[in-house]
Amino acid sequence: MSTEKKALYIIFGATGDLASRKLYPALYLLYTKGYLKDHFAVIGTARREWSDDYYQSVVKDAIDDIKESDKDAEDFSSHFRYQSHNVKNSEHYHTLKDLADSLDNKYNIEGNRIFYLSMSPAFFGTITTHLRNQNLVTENGFNRVIIEKPFGTDLKSSIKLNNEITDSFDEDQIYRIDHYLGKEMIQAILALRFSNRLIKESWDSESLSSIQITLSEDLGVEERGEYYDKSGALRDMVQNHVLQIVSLLTMDEPESFTTDNVRKEKLAVLESLKKPNVKEEFVRGQYKTSEDGKLKGYREEEKVSADSMTETFVAGKVIVDTDKWRGVPIYIRTGKRMKEKTSRIDVLWKKTDHQLFDEGDSFLTIHISPDEGFELQLNDKQIGPGMDICPVRLNSICSKEEIKSKPEAYEKLLLDVLNGDETHFAHWGEVAASWKYVDYIRDAWNENLDNIPFYSACSMGPDESDELLTKDDQRWLYNPNV
Ligand code: NAD
Repeated sequence: MSTEKKALYIIFGATGDLASRKLYPALYLLYTKGYLKDHFAVIGTARREWSDDYYQSVVKDAIDDIKESDKDAEDFSSHFRYQSHNVKNSEHYHTLKDLADSLDNKYNIEGNRIFYLSMSPAFFGTITTHLRNQNLVTENGFNRVIIEKPFGTDLKSSIKLNNEITDSFDEDQIYRIDHYLGKEMIQAILALRFSNRLIKESWDSESLSSIQITLSEDLGVEERGEYYDKSGALRDMVQNHVLQIVSLLTMDEPESFTTDNVRKEKLAVLESLKKPNVKEEFVRGQYKTSEDGKLKGYREEEKVSADSMTETFVAGKVIVDTDKWRGVPIYIRTGKRMKEKTSRIDVLWKKTDHQLFDEGDSFLTIHISPDEGFELQLNDKQIGPGMDICPVRLNSICSKEEIKSKPEAYEKLLLDVLNGDETHFAHWGEVAASWKYVDYIRDAWNENLDNIPFYSACSMGPDESDELLTKDDQRWLYNPNV
């Protein structure tokens, strides 16, 4: 049975895309499951002048597809209030405090506050400073702050940002959200690795030939051109999601499943990443118009510079520089306007030392999305006379109905925040180590900005991405081009 929690949410950026698409539905699902019930309230803030009624109608629209009944949606949205707020204006925080205190009284919330910063990181420091200085942080309850990505644009800016936030909040009050860490199959990595002797004992450079991570999107930059053109795939995807996945795939077994122990092992991996030979081991690319001319090239997208050198694709070879992992290349690739939208991990085993039979590949594929589950390919004997070998695939893939019925990443992560559980959030040390690695690649690329390989929209990236593996006598296991 779910236990009801008490919390007042203050969402900065309440009129934004993320709030409507993810946060309101996630809060509603926590409400339907009883984690939020009578003792919660939400204050939405943003620059626009909205009334409470209008805000509540926006919240109702956001949950229209999932609501249990009109009455339920009405009851839920009645806990929402809106305050027009410019985050730079100190006066506004006085009004915000009065509203927060009165809702706290009304719903008997006992001082528990969750501040959700769902807006540009440029404002994070300003907001947290005001929250502390203008007494929105309470003495009697818990105070937690959720920070959306991107956490800075490089190591230097992330240190500045972190200093600003930690001036007002302690590390154990800060929840840096990386929604990949809330995904079911990302959380399943540690379960698969550490609760199956078969996998656990053959998960190192003795046994594995490569690990391959693909996070591909079929869409282009859409309306995010302005942000993306300054960011690119390396900062947007590799610094956070990809390197977090690398750390979960290669971390040592934690002493116990506690936040501190898990973080300690993840950090050890991120601090052991070998500086790559960027020219040889990393590839970037930019999508051009699709072959049939129907899809625009990146440089023709809205708010993207016509001579942009921003990468919309990255592939690379990541090496964890420890005795256990040095021998296993971790190939990563991520990009926009690729052939298919998919997130998956392929883990390939080496062939056996003494190959008695003509064995094929054996591998584990972890499907993160849109499929969820895993497949294990092994070698078996072909039925009939002789000893021919054939592949068999064992799989555990969720049906569409199962996927729909499972909690979504934001719902799980918001519940973790309510419970004060930081295991599935990025610690500052992890963020800093990841930026250090990514900055090294970015700096090398910045020395040569004259050319960038192009790839056709709807492909799996430039040819250089395949060559990265062929020169190591490897190939991408997932290759929808073929
Ligand atoms: P958005 O542009 O749709 O919304 C930004 C919000 O900030 C709006 O509510 C706007 O009114 C408010 N705002 C801007 N300047 C303000 C000011 N001076 N004072 C008060 N309010 C102000 O952005 P979004 O897509 O909702 O994303 C929010 C954050 O989440 C960003 O940091 C983004 O990088 C991150 N994020 C978004 C997504 C997504 O899917 N949309 C995914 C991951 C991370």
